[in-house]
Parts: sequence; C-alpha cells; structure tokens
Amino acid sequence: MDNIQSILAAQREYFLKGHTRKLEDRKKNLVRLRKSIKRNEQAIIDALNKDLNKSEFEAYTTEIGILLEEISFAGKHLKKWAAPEKVKTAVTHIGTRGRIVPEPYGTALIIAPWNYPFQLALSPLVGAISAGNTAVLKPSEFAPAVSGLLKRMIEETFPKEYIAVIEGGIETNQQLLAEKFDTIFFTGSVPVGKIVMEAASKHLTPVTLELGGKSPCIVHNDADLKLSARRIAFGKFTNAGQTCIAPDYLMVHEDIKEEFMTLLKSEIEQMFGKDPLQNEKYSRMISEKHFDRLTEFIKEGTILYGGGSKKETLTIAPTILGDVSTDSPVMQEEIFGPVFPVLQYRELEEAISFIQARPKPLALYLFTSSKETEEQVVNRVSFGGGCINDTLMHIATPHLPFGGVGESGMGNYHGKFSFDAFSHYKSVLNQTTRFDFSFRYPNAKNSLKIV
Ligand code: NAD
Repeated sequence: MDNIQSILAAQREYFLKGHTRKLEDRKKNLVRLRKSIKRNEQAIIDALNKDLNKSEFEAYTTEIGILLEEISFAGKHLKKWAAPEKVKTAVTHIGTRGRIVPEPYGTALIIAPWNYPFQLALSPLVGAISAGNTAVLKPSEFAPAVSGLLKRMIEETFPKEYIAVIEGGIETNQQLLAEKFDTIFFTGSVPVGKIVMEAASKHLTPVTLELGGKSPCIVHNDADLKLSARRIAFGKFTNAGQTCIAPDYLMVHEDIKEEFMTLLKSEIEQMFGKDPLQNEKYSRMISEKHFDRLTEFIKEGTILYGGGSKKETLTIAPTILGDVSTDSPVMQEEIFGPVFPVLQYRELEEAISFIQARPKPLALYLFTSSKETEEQVVNRVSFGGGCINDTLMHIATPHLPFGGVGESGMGNYHGKFSFDAFSHYKSVLNQTTRFDFSFRYPNAKNSLKIV
C-alpha cells in the first residue's frame, strides 16, 4: 500500500467506516502522538541539528515544547469542542430545535515547510486528529533528517490508513495536489500557496493557507528601548531569521534611532556572541541556494552591523542594513534570514501608510508605551496577528488564532482554532410533528393544524 492512490483509497475507507470518529479514540491517538514525541526527543533534537544546526534550547522551546503543549491542550478540551451546540429557536421556527454538529472533513492533506520542520508538520496534525480526520503528511524535502524521522515516528505510531507520511519534493506535491482531498492545510511561501489554491479549486477542496510575507516592526519614540531591543533581537535572529513571523524590517522613529541601534547591537552580541559565525549554537541557512540569496541582500544597503558570512557552514551573521531602497529586492521579497533593513520615520502616519500600501503582513510588531499609538496601529492596519511590545509570542498561546490575512494566508489554527480548521460545522434542525402551520403552504386555509 505504498502509492498515493492506494493510501488515499485506504484512508477514505477507514474514515467512512467511522474509525476516526469516537472521541475516546481521538484522545488515545493524541496520547500516542505525545508518547512518540517524548520517546524520540533526542532523535528530534539531533535531526533538527542536522538539518538547521538548531541548538537543543531552540529545538525544545520552538518545536518540541510548543507541540507537547498543543497536544495537552487539545486532549483537555476536546470533549467540549466536539460536543454539538444547541442554538436558540427563532420565533418563526416555533416547535423546532436547532443544533450545530462539528464533523470531520474526511481525509486531510498537510504540507509542511522546512524552517520549523517538526512542529509545523505535527501541529496541524493535532487539529486533524482532534477533529476526527485521517491525514496524509508531506514534510519538506529541504529538511531530510526531520522528514525521515517523521516518517519513522508516524509509521511506528499509526496505521497508514489513518495517518501516512509521504516524503518527496515538488513532483510528489504535484501528484498529491492532483488528488481529491477533503481539506488541505498548507504552510509555506506565497507563490506555492497560490499553486495549492489553484489545485484545490479543481476539486473545490477547502484550504487553510499559512503563508509568509514581510512583517514590519515599529519602534516608536515612547518605547522602552532596552526591552524593545532585546525582544526584537530575539524575534529577528532566532533560527537565524528563518521564521515566518520574524520581524522582516524595522521602522524606527528618527528621534530615538541612534540610541536604539546601539542597544540593538548590544543585545545581539549578548544573545549570539561577538562572533556569531563561531557560535556553534547559531542556526545555519537551510541550503546553499538560500545562503546565496541572503548574501545578495546584504549588498543592497550599507552594513550598519554584522555582514559576515561563512559558506562552508552556510552561516550568516546577524546583519543590520541601512540606506536600503524600498524598490530593492530586500524590501520587496520576504527576507527569511538574519538580514534586517532599517527605515526611519518622523510621523506615525508615515509608518502606517507605508504598511497599508503593501500586502497585508502575517505579523506586525509595535513597541510603544502609548495606548493611543497602539489603537491607531491596531485599528487601522490589517495584519494576521502580532504583539505590542514583544515579538513572536502570539504564536505560542493556544488561546489566540494563528494565521494570515490577504496575501499572508487564509484560515487559522492553534488550540480550538485547529479543531475548527479541520471541521465542518453542520446545521441540523429538528422539526416537531405535534403540530403544523398550514400558512407555510400554498393555498392554505387554516393557519394552525394540530396533527
Ligand atoms: P515553500 O513554499 O517553498 O515550500 C513549502 C512546501 O511546498 C514544501 O513541502 C515543498 O515541497 C512544497 N513545494 C515547493 N514548491 C512547490 C511547487 N512548485 N509545487 C508544489 N509544491 C511545492 O516554502 P518553504 O521554503 O518550505 O518555507 C518558507 C516559507 O514558508 C516562507 O514564505 C515562510 O514565511 C512560510 N512559512 C509560513 C508559516 C506560517 O505559519 N504562516 C510558517 C513557516 C513558514
């Protein structure tokens, strides 16, 4: 049972026979997944180190820990999420009872990227299992150690007719996308997101698209500058900037620019050392192609800090760039690496209209102590999600939906929102048979008939 069609046929049959539906089984399967992660913790850390030179600390905090939390949260709340919800009866519907019944879509396709290759493959799977789907998981070919490990772990834990991992590159993805799934959950770039949506449209398959883009980071003149510098250095350079919600570029108020830049450099040194290229715990670029792309970006402005790189290890030092043209590729494309262009502004309005004139970002970060500034930005700028006075942290709570808007994606997940992403909410109306209103029908004589 190894080709795509036979796996899909087996999953469909497994689903239609109802094997994924019982709440107790879903919970048991979440526990199985959790146990498998715990059992393979060292292997996961090793694979992440092999693919990205991720440190053990980062592997735990940004991949393993976050996932274990997600599984526990789902296990704890699943009963409530899956319960049908009774709704009120409208006066026009006297005698009826209405309820909303969540039902699994069926067979889900989950396509994952390479930057958090473990977490971003399994986190959607938590939603798929919770909601009662079967799933085919396609990890990224750019993270082969994690991809192989995911395959082994899933095969040891679940039968293929329930959850299967299919490894491969673009061609495998194309074959998968040609098939009819009941839902597709894609995490990756904007251009590939468009390919996925086009393929899904052929079967009218619903999609969740977790995409990327350029996420701005604004530092206003009333911000706590030292704290801002620390939190921005953390958000930008974790995983060497290869984070979908990393601050992409900085917009800093001109009055505090010099002071802030000094603090930012000092915080980068504090976190990654004076020579990050010698720091064994600093992540590398995923491939030579990605390394070359990033080093080209560095040539597009004045290097205000960093700028070094080492091709043998595919590492690029945290780099701050000044004097960048807004038309240059570094300000047009998602950077997705440790290069940080800096723009300055005088009036908040300039920063707001700059962002409004571009595709809606996946994340936005604002550093300010003013409620009014916060309201201005939150109410007037559209973005997927973000933080005031922090970076990245909105992704790590199961209480907030995570996702993009416009070109940065559609749909969202995490916590209950993951359950929703893999569920259809079915409306069911129960009509009374004790009486009937004749005026509902053409040419009626009596208004009420007791039956
Ligand atoms: P990518 O779009 O290149 O690849 C993602 C997946 O799509 C991979 O599994 C890959 O095999 C497949 N793929 C690649 N080209 C394809 C094609 N032509 N046809 C069909 N399938 C194809 O993305 P990536 O480089 O792996 O990841 C980086 C991107 O993902 C960035 O844009 C980043 O912002 C985004 N991202 C978003 C989130 C999020 O949660 N919103 C999280 C991580 C990464």
